[in-house]
Amino acid sequence: MHRADMLVIGGGIAGLSVAARLARHGRVMVLEGEGAPGYHASGRSVAFAHYGLGNEPVRTLTALSMGELAEHGTMHPALHIASTADIAALDALEDVHRQFRCDYTRITTAGALALMPAIRPEACAAALVDHGSLKLDTNAMLQAHAASLRAHGGKLVTGARVHAIARDSDGWRVEAGGESYAAPILVNAAGAWADDVAHMAGVTPIGIEPRRRTVISFAAPEGENVGAWPFTKTVGEGFYLLPEGRGQLLASSMDQTPSAPCDAAAEELDIAIAADRVEQATTLPIRRISHSWAGLRSFVPDELPVIGHAAGAQGFVWCAGQGGAGFQTAPALSRIAAAAALGLPFPEDCTAAGLSARQFAPERLDA
Ligand SMILES: Cc1cc2nc3c(=O)[nH]c(=O)nc-3n(C[C@H](O)[C@H](O)[C@H](O)COP(=O)(O)OP(=O)(O)OC[C@H]3O[C@@H](n4cnc5c(N)ncnc54)[C@H](O)[C@@H]3O)c2cc1C
Repeated sequence: MHRADMLVIGGGIAGLSVAARLARHGRVMVLEGEGAPGYHASGRSVAFAHYGLGNEPVRTLTALSMGELAEHGTMHPALHIASTADIAALDALEDVHRQFRCDYTRITTAGALALMPAIRPEACAAALVDHGSLKLDTNAMLQAHAASLRAHGGKLVTGARVHAIARDSDGWRVEAGGESYAAPILVNAAGAWADDVAHMAGVTPIGIEPRRRTVISFAAPEGENVGAWPFTKTVGEGFYLLPEGRGQLLASSMDQTPSAPCDAAAEELDIAIAADRVEQATTLPIRRISHSWAGLRSFVPDELPVIGHAAGAQGFVWCAGQGGAGFQTAPALSRIAAAAALGLPFPEDCTAAGLSARQFAPERLDA
């Protein structure tokens, strides 16, 4: 039996970021079912931090995280483009950028084309460029959290898929990878599988909905310095596009197809839709898809993370529902989750920014 003060199920960004914080307060073991951390959603993101997604609390979490994210990010502009029909949505997004005091500029079609010459003018009646967005090194983020966990005496156990959870007078007992683990506190950071973990523990599920998102990669036009192109995103339905590595571009139609928790794979139709959206709105010819992948973004109905103790299950702490913003909110969210697990007050700066423990508590979903 391996005894710890806190067990964390899930070695994605959610689990590792909270585990790294908890390890300063006790012995922490992270149990990850796959052979390496970050295999699922956390290994499939497009690694960007910006204000063009999520609801207000998610944007507030992003704002509270930007300073720490900068350690593993480089400034890269985000260009939000709007067709004539989407001008009102662009206005609303401008209000958001003003509210969060972003370094942004509202620009014309010509201004957008100067930044991103492949846009077809008819796809961009107006635009907004956020100069303060970040391209993240998500692998470095995961590795830094794992290193911090180890440096504080914690352990990441891979190949440890949890298949049974029981509670006795000492706390939680967990069976994984042929070994038994025990701790009074159990953090559920199992991403798309968060409700499966709750079922095993006899805890009321939160109704997590994994949604599949597809990304394609294709060669940029020869001779074009695409590395300088902004992360380009339609404010309404459409696509996003960003440079990646040498001469490659990534794109997504921002699909979000409900899925069972699984090792998500890109489907032909979703790949075709992403390519078509890019070709409709830009002059980029996609002759061949170099690579494609899909990952699951997991939400509850109000699209806010779920952080806090499960009612009636002492020591069971939720850290789930990060949706499409798990990296860009991780610095703030892991502080909130660590405080909840340790029974400490909600972080002061988060309260000052208008957030509250109640907003993220699992009980809100009972209503
Ligand atoms: C295409 C795409 C693009 C994205 N782009 C961005 C972006 O630009 N910026 C951003 O901030 N976010 C982005 N996201 C969202 C981000 O990737 C997620 O919010 C984040 O990775 C969720 O992290 P997680 O740790 O909760 O989940 P995961 O990374 O899925 O981790 C959960 C882990 O739990 C493990 N697990 C599950 N069940 C068990 C069990 N029984 N026993 C042991 N282990 C178990 C799994 O193996 C998994 O490794 C994107 C997501 C996708 C799919």
